[in-house]
Amino acid sequence: RAAEAAATWSGPGQTADGHTVAILANVADGTSARAATDHPVEGVGLFRTELAFLDRADEPSVDEQAALYREVIDAFEGRKVVIRTLDAGSDKPLKFVSQEHEPNPAMGVRGNRIASVHPDIRTHQLDAIARAAENASATPWVMAPMIAGAGEAEEFAAEVRSRGLVAGVMIEIPAAAVLAPAILSKVDFVSIGTNDLTQYTMAADRMSAELAAFTDPWQPAVLNLVANVARTGKELGKPVGVCGEAAADPLLACVLVGLGVTSLSSAPVAAAAVGARLAQTSSDQCREAADAALAAEDPEAARTAVAAILL
Ligand code: PEP
Ligand code: MG
Repeated sequence: RAAEAAATWSGPGQTADGHTVAILANVADGTSARAATDHPVEGVGLFRTELAFLDRADEPSVDEQAALYREVIDAFEGRKVVIRTLDAGSDKPLKFVSQEHEPNPAMGVRGNRIASVHPDIRTHQLDAIARAAENASATPWVMAPMIAGAGEAEEFAAEVRSRGLVAGVMIEIPAAAVLAPAILSKVDFVSIGTNDLTQYTMAADRMSAELAAFTDPWQPAVLNLVANVARTGKELGKPVGVCGEAAADPLLACVLVGLGVTSLSSAPVAAAAVGARLAQTSSDQCREAADAALAAEDPEAARTAVAAILL
């Protein structure tokens, strides 16, 4: 039945009682953005720009970057596109930015932290995004990865807004989730990266198969952090998205919506199943599922309790 519902669901994202939740795609370049339009997605919730440059020895020029970013904006003409500044380092090293020998790269100079070592690289990228946005059908939203505190969020937002763009940050370090009120007050939106938020909350490498039970996105500790961020977003009237793979699990997506998350972005193949499940679920059921997941002792108990409510 779930597969049948997914096959016919065509969006836009909403609960059974009409509460809208944008269903968005994670993309890596123009080709993957155009391919994503074959799925029932309403825009791009995460453009991982670093993935387009994994094979580069040198920094791509501003012109070349602008052309690439414009391809993604044009693939979703007039719709929402969230561009993330380079998240180089850790599992995605870039030859032209990453540190050679970091003992613990997941906790090293990665993501927005690179701006303190190579400020020009971020400046060039923001200039390229601004150039790509000129005469575009919609203004892209721009967010920084690996933000730990309000000072970094404020500094990034000033750079982005000075170029006429909409500024946000990712919440993927537990400190940022704990300090959500201070961080959200500095930006226009946030997007929760559940992959890294889970890795750092559980102190378990996201690449480790042996630790998969720890890096399960149903971990109640992670969901409690998501709840804190979503509640703050509601209080401040700012969008709170999720762009980690937690958003690809239909039941967990309902939990996230019940926690107050306003958009869900993941691999585009997941969009139909997530959208169809949400369309069958009321806002009240989402909230009930969220309460049950928050109260569970472990991922298994969370799944069982949520399945009993939603299935
Ligand atoms: C995340 O950490 O959840 C995220 C969306 O970013 P990435 O997977 O690219 O680190
Ligand atoms: Mg991440």
